[in-house]
Amino acid sequence: MNSRLTLHVQALPSWGLDWVRRALRNGGELYVKWINPDEHDPLDGLPVRVIGRVHPDDDDWTKRWLRQGEHGALAFYIRWYKFYKARPWVWAWETPNEPGMMGLDDVQALSAFVVRFCELMHRGGFRVAGLNTSVGWPALGFDKEPEDRGGNSDIPILAPAYDACDIWSFHEYGWPQMWTGEGFYCLRYRETVRQLVALGIKRKPIAITECGLDGLLVGPEPRGWREQDPPLDFESYLSQLAWYDQRLAEDNVLFAAIFTAGANAPWGSYELHQEEAWQLADYIATFRPRWAPELVTPRVPEGTTPVPNHAQIINLIGKLPVHPDEEFAERNLEDITHSVIHHSGGRQRPANVRRHIKAIARYHIRKYNWPGIAYTHVVDADGTIWLTGDLGSIRYHSGSKAWNRASIGICLLGDFRHGRGVPTHPQLEAAEWLVRDLGLPVVAHKKIVATACPGDLRSGWWRRLRRAAK
Ligand SMILES: [Zn+2]
Repeated sequence: MNSRLTLHVQALPSWGLDWVRRALRNGGELYVKWINPDEHDPLDGLPVRVIGRVHPDDDDWTKRWLRQGEHGALAFYIRWYKFYKARPWVWAWETPNEPGMMGLDDVQALSAFVVRFCELMHRGGFRVAGLNTSVGWPALGFDKEPEDRGGNSDIPILAPAYDACDIWSFHEYGWPQMWTGEGFYCLRYRETVRQLVALGIKRKPIAITECGLDGLLVGPEPRGWREQDPPLDFESYLSQLAWYDQRLAEDNVLFAAIFTAGANAPWGSYELHQEEAWQLADYIATFRPRWAPELVTPRVPEGTTPVPNHAQIINLIGKLPVHPDEEFAERNLEDITHSVIHHSGGRQRPANVRRHIKAIARYHIRKYNWPGIAYTHVVDADGTIWLTGDLGSIRYHSGSKAWNRASIGICLLGDFRHGRGVPTHPQLEAAEWLVRDLGLPVVAHKKIVATACPGDLRSGWWRRLRRAAK
């Protein structure tokens, strides 16, 4: 038998690399879970696979995006794409952390989000671990649970999402012991897996990307193993973890990452200090060397292409000027049927694109008294896609109320009237990728109202963009 235990890292401690070497001193391979991993690969060629998680500073947006289903997935992907891309050494990425979605509509939206997110991630060449559910959610049909839905399980709704992931990942905790409430706290994953397999879903490799003792199960404040009363010594904790380790071996689980090392506030009482981490490393090293039993490779669907290499995607939502009093109305994302294409009619290569987009936003607010910038996306001459507006807001870009409600506005920087200019090659490629990815037919602004925008439609670039959108 091999140990499945390993560390969950919030910030790599100074002793982190030595810990890995110590745990691997008899050979083998390790997995580590790491929040916001460094851009630079610190692992020095060690046989370690890192499962990364992004920790957004805009957590509310993540929740909003989850509730927006597949469209939210695109927004989330756009928000984090650059981050993922800059860390090619990370083995797999988690879907948004512990999505405790309460209403049935939310569960449905979460499922659509994950399916779409996996599709985008696979196209980008990334592996995905999901759904990182924690204790007591989703409803599994146990009537004693807080999320009881009259004995019904949420798993049939979430099955397509699990099917889309490369790795099934779970967070599991107990309190005051790991085995307290078996089947409900730790080892709850078994019931999820059982139901998925019963639904005909092919089983994926399983990972426990967080585990341990968590006082949040019984109280409102974070309370880790260090704050147990009576006090718990680490040998006792490790013996509980070893019990868990045995159970995981029965299911051939890839690994279980103990929360946590390098703790941020308020997780200090969960921390394994170097002294305890060393004991854990010795425990791991006494097992035979191992190699991961199952390798997964991302699936790139046929006929699809990754995001163009040069393209960057930058999220400006929340960072642009807005009107002090006015707000855009909201809409259902199902109402969106088209992308409307604009040109800015101004400079194609402003000295500072971010400042230029802010100036466009200010212009829309001051000149027209609009709540904010009219567009949802801006594509610049270098092929960078700037996310400027929430897809769920009805923005004022088309000059027609009905079209505003039914469309998103994509603006290419530049003036594309006859004889003035055309999109650059990277700009057109990025726009093509975006409209293909949105999966919506494109309409030129001038087909809706009398305007020169977005320029000469007999030009080759417009034919290419239309073809890409089909
Ligand atoms: Zn326009």
